[in-house]
Amino acid sequence: MRYANVIVDITHEKLDKTFQYIIPDELKDSVYPGVQAEVPFGRGNRSIKCYVVEVTDTAEYDMSKMKKIIRIVPDSIPIESQLIAVAAWIKENYGSTMNRALKTVIPVHRTIKEKRQEYVRLKASISETKSLMEKYHHDKRMSARVRLLEELVSKEEISMELLTKKMGISKNVIKSLKESGIIDIRYDTIYRTPFGNPGTESERNILSDEQRETVSSIVTEMDSPSGIRTHLIFGVTGSGKTEVYMECIEHVLSKGRQVIVLIPEIALTYQNVTRFYKRFGDKVSIINSRMSQGERYDQFRMAKEGKVQIMIGPRSALFTPFSDLGLIIIDEEHEPAYKSETVPKYHARETAIMRAGLTDATVILGSATPSTEAFYKAENGEYMLHRMDNRVKNKPMPKVNVVDLRQELKEGNKSIFSRKLMELIKDRISKSQQVILFVNRRGYAGFVSCRSCGKPLRCPHCDVSLTYHKRAGREIMSCHYCGYQIEKPKLCPVCGSKYMGKFGIGTESVEEKISELFPEAKVLRMDMDTTSGKDGHEKILSSFANHDADILVGTQMIVKGHDFPKVTLVGVIAADLSLYASDYRATERTFQLLTQAAGRAGRGEESGEVVIQTYSPEEYSIVEAANQDYDAFYRKEISYRNLMRYPPVYNMAAILITSDNEKLCCEGAQDIAQRIKKSHIDGLTVIGASEASVSKINDIYRYVIYIKHNDYNALVHIKNGVELYIDKKVIYKKRLTVQFDFTPMDNY
Ligand code: ADP
Ligand code: ZN
Ligand code: ZN
Repeated sequence: MRYANVIVDITHEKLDKTFQYIIPDELKDSVYPGVQAEVPFGRGNRSIKCYVVEVTDTAEYDMSKMKKIIRIVPDSIPIESQLIAVAAWIKENYGSTMNRALKTVIPVHRTIKEKRQEYVRLKASISETKSLMEKYHHDKRMSARVRLLEELVSKEEISMELLTKKMGISKNVIKSLKESGIIDIRYDTIYRTPFGNPGTESERNILSDEQRETVSSIVTEMDSPSGIRTHLIFGVTGSGKTEVYMECIEHVLSKGRQVIVLIPEIALTYQNVTRFYKRFGDKVSIINSRMSQGERYDQFRMAKEGKVQIMIGPRSALFTPFSDLGLIIIDEEHEPAYKSETVPKYHARETAIMRAGLTDATVILGSATPSTEAFYKAENGEYMLHRMDNRVKNKPMPKVNVVDLRQELKEGNKSIFSRKLMELIKDRISKSQQVILFVNRRGYAGFVSCRSCGKPLRCPHCDVSLTYHKRAGREIMSCHYCGYQIEKPKLCPVCGSKYMGKFGIGTESVEEKISELFPEAKVLRMDMDTTSGKDGHEKILSSFANHDADILVGTQMIVKGHDFPKVTLVGVIAADLSLYASDYRATERTFQLLTQAAGRAGRGEESGEVVIQTYSPEEYSIVEAANQDYDAFYRKEISYRNLMRYPPVYNMAAILITSDNEKLCCEGAQDIAQRIKKSHIDGLTVIGASEASVSKINDIYRYVIYIKHNDYNALVHIKNGVELYIDKKVIYKKRLTVQFDFTPMDNY
C-alpha cells in the first residue's frame, strides 16, 4: 500500500501540517510530489484541493480510518507544484526532511501589517475651493492651507508623505480640512520596494565582438527546442559579463517569460543593481538577506502576481515563484556562498539546473574563475562553454608582481609590507589613485605553520593541513579526513626551526600599520567588524567609490565583483593563508581569491598593477594566479583531484553524526561506517568515521564519515540506506542526528 502526504494550504505558516491519504491503485503512477489532488476533507468529506508533498510506504495513522485520494487535478502545474517538486528533489539529493525542504523553497506567509500609502485629494469642487482660497488669502495663519489647496487644484492627488515631509504641511492642517469636508484621503496598500524606481535609460554600450558572439550563441540555443540549456561564461574580470546577461534577459522577457539573477550577497551593491534598474526599470525587484520577512514576502508576491519579471538576489532568490521561468543567471558562479550552510545543504548551481528543467528554462553561469565543478562539466560537454578572454575596450589585464616574503626577511625587511608594495603604494598616493590591500584570512585559525619556512603541518595521508586541537592540556594536530593524529611538534619537521605557531595577520593590524607609514593617506577598513550594521558594507564601498579614502583594507569581501575605476594597485598581504585551510578546495579557493583580487586593479582609464606577497611563490595556485592563466591552473588542479579521488572527478559526501552522548556518537558513527563498508558497493571509498575537526559544539559531539564514488547516485543510495537504518534503531533515532552534505567544502 502507498500513501500520500498532502498539504492543504500551501501559504500557511504550518507547512508541517500534513494529512495522509491512501493512493488508490488506479492512481499509483500519477501521484508524486507536486501533484495537485482532490481529497475528502473533514467530517462532511467535502472535496478539496491539496498538494502531494511526499509518497511513502509507511502509514502514519490508523489505516482503517484513512481516506482515499479522489482524483488528480489534470494539466495544472501551478507554481506551487513546481516548488514542491524542487523541494522533493532537494530532500532526495541533499538529505533533509520534506518539511524543512518545503520551508526552504516556499515563501511562508506571515500575517504582516501592510504598509499603507495615503493620498490627499479634493472633495469640494474647484470653484468652492477657489473661493475658500480667496477667503484665506490674507490670513497668515492660513498660509499652509492655501498652499495645499493650490497644489490640489492643479494635481489630482498628492501623497501624504510628500505633503508632510517635503512641503512642510502639518497633519493637523490636513485633518482639519478633511473634517470640514474640503479634502479627502485615499488609502492604498503599497509594496515595499527597497529602492525607488530609477526608471529606464536608453543609452547602451555597443557590444564587443566577444560579447556579441556569446549572446548570439546562447540565444540560438534558447530558441532551439533541443538546444543546450546550461551555459558557462568564462570571462576574465572586466570582460563585460553583465552586459551579456542583460542581452539574454531581454530576449527572455520578449517571450513573456521571467528571469532570476543570483548575485552573491556581498556583491549586491547599489552600484551593481543599478545597472539592471537602468536597463529594465520597474520590471526588476530585489531581495537581500537584510530585508525583513515581510519585505521578502512582498517581493515574492509581486513576482507571483506578475508585477515584476526579474528577481535579483542571493541564493534564496532561486525560489522566486515565477510561473513561467525562462532564465536563471548565476553570477560569480564559483562563490562558496551559493551553497547553503544549513540543512538542507543544497547548492544553488545544481538546484537551479533542476528548477530550470521544469519549465525548459536556460541557466547561465558566469565567472572569471569558474569552479572546477562547472569547468569540468563544460569540458565534458554537459554545459556549453563561452570564453571571453579580453577586457572590454581592450583594457590590458593588470601586471602582477610576486614577492617572496622569505627573501624579504633574509634581506632584513621585517615589516608585513614588502619593499615593492611600499614603493607602489607611495607612487599611487602621490598620483591620487586608489589602492586595495587584501588580507587573506580564510582558514588561518586552525592550522599551525612555521614562521621561518612558511610550511604548515600537513597530514601525510591526505594532503590537507592538520587541524589544531587542545585536549586535556595537550596540543594535538589531527587530520579530519582520515583521523591521523600527532602531538604538536616543537620543531618544524621541514626546516627544524622552533618558530611554530598559529599565525595570521588581521585587517586591523594592517590598517594600523599602513596609517603609521602613510599618515597623509586616508584608510578605510572592511571586514566582519566594520560591516555588521545594516547597509554597513554598502556605506564603506560607496565611500571608497567616491574617493573619500585612498586605501581600502579588507578581507575576501572586498574582492567580489566590485568596479572601482580609480584603483590601480592591489596588494595581497599574505597570499598563502587560504592555501593551508584544511580542505581539498583550499588551492582552488586561493587561486580564485588572488585572481579576483587582481581583477580589481586597472578597470578604469589607468592600467593596474598587483603585488602578491607570499611564502610559497612556487605553489601553482599562486604562480597561475600571477600569470592569470586559468587553464594552466585548472589542468594541474584537475589531475590532483583525479589522483586523490576528489570532486569534481569523483563525487564525495560527508555524513556528519552528532549526539550529546560521546560514547554513543563515536560507536554509532563507527557502526554506520561499518554498515556502509559492508554494503560492498563497487568503487566506493569510505573514510572514517573520525572525530570532526570541531569535535564538540555546545556539548554536542561530532563525528564525520566521508564517502566517495564516481556515480552520484551511488552516494544518494547510501544516504537513503543510512536514513532507513537510523529510522529503525530506536536509540539512534532518539539520540543521534545524522546530516548529509553532498558538496562538502567547509570543515567538519
Ligand atoms: P565583468 O562582470 O565581466 O567583470 P562588467 O560587466 O562589470 O565586467 O563590465 C566591466 C565594465 O565595462 C563595466 O563598467 C561596464 O559598464 C563596461 N562595459 C561592459 N561592456 C561594455 C561595452 N561593450 N562597451 C563599453 N563598456 C562596457
Ligand atoms: Zn589524513
Ligand atoms: Zn620550517
